[in-house]
Amino acid sequence: MYCHHICSPINNTLGPGNRLVLWASGCPRKCPGCISPELQELHNGKDISVDNLADLISPHLSGLDGITVSGGDPFFQPEELRKFVSLIKHQCDDILIYTGYLLSEIDKKALEGITAIIDGPYIAEQATDGILPYGSYNQRLNVLDRRYKPTYTKWLNSYVPKIQTFSSHSGLLYSIGIHKS
Ligand code: SF4
Repeated sequence: MYCHHICSPINNTLGPGNRLVLWASGCPRKCPGCISPELQELHNGKDISVDNLADLISPHLSGLDGITVSGGDPFFQPEELRKFVSLIKHQCDDILIYTGYLLSEIDKKALEGITAIIDGPYIAEQATDGILPYGSYNQRLNVLDRRYKPTYTKWLNSYVPKIQTFSSHSGLLYSIGIHKS
């Protein structure tokens, strides 16, 4: 699976509670105003087997509330995403995916094990300017696992904009959150 970077813990910004967030590379959409153009090219990420990725992440899940997979578009690598979800699910039940696809465009099998999806492409003319946990008003939070409806509803209704900054071992800085356009 081509991955660009992983940060943890991200607090309440890209999903409820404290989460490990993984950015998959590769997205065919090229939305004008995309905040992460460097993630559109699949090969800008590092190719890591899903087994190795799960092994890498596992020791860091203790005490976290969930995992979020963003991008790029995680569904651009549907088989890898499906395998990743099935491997990691028993260690972390709450898995949120950000995708530019509409929920109706995604094969039902590819949704197995996924708790919630924020779907739809970024539309610059409808930018939320960061007041919601997604980039534009056309996007939607879909909670697929009913058990988590209260958790996600509370998160969305009480969402407070927040940007977190992380530095990588190589000195790169990542600004995490939904930014103003
Ligand atoms: S779907 Fe997201 S990652 Fe893909 S081009 Fe649009 S804004 Fe960028």
